[in-house]
Amino acid sequence: MKAVFTDLHKGHDPKRFILRGKFAQGEERPERAERLAAGLNAGNHELVPSEVFGQGPRLGVHSVDYLRFMEEAAAEWKTLADASDEVLGNVHPVRRGGTMPQSITGRAGWYMQDMACGIGPDSWLAASSATDVAVTAAELVIEGERAAYALCRPPGHHAYRDAAGGHCFLNNTAIAAQYLRSVHDRVAILDIDIHHGNGTQDIFYDRGDVLTVSVHADPSRFYPFFWGYAHERGTGAGEGANLNLPIPVGSGDDAYVAAVEASAKTIAAFTPGMLVIALGLDASADDPFGGAKVTAAGFRRAGEAIARMGLPTLFVQEGGYLSDQLGPNLTAVLGGFEAAA
Ligand SMILES: [Zn+2]
Repeated sequence: MKAVFTDLHKGHDPKRFILRGKFAQGEERPERAERLAAGLNAGNHELVPSEVFGQGPRLGVHSVDYLRFMEEAAAEWKTLADASDEVLGNVHPVRRGGTMPQSITGRAGWYMQDMACGIGPDSWLAASSATDVAVTAAELVIEGERAAYALCRPPGHHAYRDAAGGHCFLNNTAIAAQYLRSVHDRVAILDIDIHHGNGTQDIFYDRGDVLTVSVHADPSRFYPFFWGYAHERGTGAGEGANLNLPIPVGSGDDAYVAAVEASAKTIAAFTPGMLVIALGLDASADDPFGGAKVTAAGFRRAGEAIARMGLPTLFVQEGGYLSDQLGPNLTAVLGGFEAAA
């Protein structure tokens, strides 16, 4: 299938985040994209450059003030005395409402929900280019491709309408789904990253026109901890249009594939015009986050199950971190899809 890519992701190279109380090197590294591109080449997928769609599709999901913060934060941060080269919020207005301050330190805390989303000088360029990658791939499917793949980096599914978090800044999957609403009355999202797609869920939680389904490790002991439970079913017009399928941490191929297969009934009943797959590969047994011990054979079966849903399908890259299996797992899931499509 056609796979959309840009080199502009390279400018985003976060150096540090907090893990178990220690500064750790960022896991969301530029090399991820090189490994994923190698996986695309191994599967003989055709690489296509992204086109520029600009701010319009982003405004379909994110607030104006948040996009302005994302664009300006790195430069304003550098005006602080003795600041690092990365914006990293460390004071957050949890639980008490509060008022938006003028200070960049305060605004960083306002718009960043954790310390795994440092913003460097070229992070905006990379994140905004990733939304163009997603929309370019969405256009390919609108134009008649059975499926297309978007190599988005940084990923997006933990990003809210007005908050970054978990290596994510702009919600590429949500932006693509909202863009697809211009041609389809209903769009379904199936998130198979090992972390719950909390940002995507929140963006569409009160809407009945976009179904959000997420297969992920049980959040009671896994990021994002506070969301991703089975009782979260949507609200208002979105009641019943959110489905969480948590699986035990480390449960392996069969449980993971069974959850993907179990989502098919809900997706079919929703009768969407298109399916967007939030394609995280961090369920891999070799992933440094080690969520579900899934093998390449398991990813291939997941791809086959997605193809059997019989819908025009857009794959948007989410997580999946450095290991020798990162590229081969991408080859496996897309190969499984094409074999069963
Ligand atoms: Zn993840």
